Amino acid sequence: MAEIPILRFAPSPNGELHLGHALSALLAHGAADRLGGRFLLRLEDIDRDRCRPVYEAGILRDLAWLGLTWEQPVRRQSEHFDDYRAAAARLADMGLLFACSCSRAKIAAAVAEREAQGIIWPRDPDGAPLYPGTCRAVRADRAAIGRAEAGEVALRLDIARALATIPDSLSWSEHGEAFYRDAFDLSSRGARISADPAAWGDVVICRKGSPTSYHLAVVVDDALQGITHVTRGRDLYWATSVHRLLQVLLGLPAPAYAHHRLLTGPDGLKLAKSRRDLSLRALREAGHSPRDIRRMAGLPADR
Ligand code: GLU
Repeated sequence: MAEIPILRFAPSPNGELHLGHALSALLAHGAADRLGGRFLLRLEDIDRDRCRPVYEAGILRDLAWLGLTWEQPVRRQSEHFDDYRAAAARLADMGLLFACSCSRAKIAAAVAEREAQGIIWPRDPDGAPLYPGTCRAVRADRAAIGRAEAGEVALRLDIARALATIPDSLSWSEHGEAFYRDAFDLSSRGARISADPAAWGDVVICRKGSPTSYHLAVVVDDALQGITHVTRGRDLYWATSVHRLLQVLLGLPAPAYAHHRLLTGPDGLKLAKSRRDLSLRALREAGHSPRDIRRMAGLPADR
């Protein structure tokens, strides 16, 4: 029997949802409906400083107003730190983590020093300079996860070592926009995209003050929730390289991916939570209906 598609919308409750989130949620919900699949909501609230109950309540209210329904219980990442600790411990046991005590300023200074010597320092796909490897020799064991949680260090993945443990080149199955069209055929295999996790350097696995990072939590949760198709915006397209690497290291299944277009504001920039005028709450309070939101997001208004 063909597997039932399981899709999710995974916002972070660190601000109000905007039109871009509405597009993402409506696309995923619509695809789940059409494909006879399940739709899950996951709250990615690992950042205890920036996430707030009031934003979480706003997300639930905005999505319900848009007419979406989702399964219960909603997975809240802050309630599952043990799952991320276990995954981080596995990577530590494999000897792939190191404890990094560099501040942002220290990293910036190390990169500036190399650039002053005329070295063209590599950037990651988001444009940030790669970590210069300062602490790479400081191997992290399981106990180091507690030190990360206590805010003493961050734990990073030694990317060269990690890649050396993987036999084959990495890739993922990408459906892109086609996934969201009526004509999408579930038996389609999508395009095979080569992953390049090295482009991100020694990524953070446990942030200072936390047993996890976005990358670790997202792969653990997608696996635990049985997500078959990861639906999200193109801003996370290249993060998939890191996710595929972590999935292979942790022995997790590989979902398919469908990255969708992003909405831009009148300034041509990607919408951000700081654009309060385009928050769903502001639009609702200005008298717009859920149909208007669909139209503004470039979706047919009739569903
Ligand atoms: N929580 C992420 C965000 O709000 C999305 C994560 C994902 O879909 O993989 O941007």
